[in-house]
Amino acid sequence: MAFVTRFAPSPTGPLHLGHAYSALLAHDLAVAARGRFLLRIEDTDIERCRPEWEAQIYDDLHWLGLRWPEPVLRQSDRVAEYEVVLDSLAARGLVYPCSCSRADIRAAVSAPQEGVAKPGIYPGTCRHRTMATRLPGDALRLNMAAAVAAVALPLRYCDTGSEQPGWHEISAPGLIARHGDVVLGRKDIGTASYVLAAVLDDCHQQISDVIRGADLCEITEVQVLLQHLLGLPTPTYHHHHLIRDAQGKRLAKRCDARALSKYRGEGATPAEIRGMVGL
Ligand code: GLU
Repeated sequence: MAFVTRFAPSPTGPLHLGHAYSALLAHDLAVAARGRFLLRIEDTDIERCRPEWEAQIYDDLHWLGLRWPEPVLRQSDRVAEYEVVLDSLAARGLVYPCSCSRADIRAAVSAPQEGVAKPGIYPGTCRHRTMATRLPGDALRLNMAAAVAAVALPLRYCDTGSEQPGWHEISAPGLIARHGDVVLGRKDIGTASYVLAAVLDDCHQQISDVIRGADLCEITEVQVLLQHLLGLPTPTYHHHHLIRDAQGKRLAKRCDARALSKYRGEGATPAEIRGMVGL
């Protein structure tokens, strides 16, 4: 199978050293394997995505010396394809509409009668709702118990990365306890959430190897579950270590202290950036 990988930033802020590492590593591995390196713009979060950040992504990556085939896939161009898949999951009874706000979820999780629910895991308030009750502005959640019942568990995937190398087994209790009823359809614009859109795009772009930061290790089990639910192939994953600041904190987009554009402005060369991230 041909080696195809991608770098998939969201244009919600400046690229920093961590992004540079991820993009350069993916690119270098593709070159070494005589494969392909693709760029994908993950712009489903219309509130936070900005055209100027997207323009800066192209500029920074070009400056680093990276090249990719055009046209670049932008998730905002694939909303219709995502809708078809959300409809098919709805027809199978695997998703339900949810109107809960973050505050509703916090309140339900902290209420004594909901003691079984874990922080961060949706307590299931709207799980009884049918698709016929869907209102504009409702999110669509995966009914995780129904989803795990619809596939042959345990599922397996291979991670060749530095963080958790080897084969991983995914179990029903793990999916339910760690993830619960994740959002697959966003409430704001009615398109797919990141977790679903990335799975559909990885298949659409025939990605053989997903190279990305270890912050996405945990969500991988949901993505592998979705691949099985939808009959899609599971790529090989390579979760790499995160680039941290001097205090050991992982770099965040909102902190532009390590923005590539800042280093560029100060006269750093692409070779120096490679050195800074250990490549
Ligand atoms: N868009 C995600 C991010 O910027 C990356 C998702 C992925 O590589 O699967 O963190």
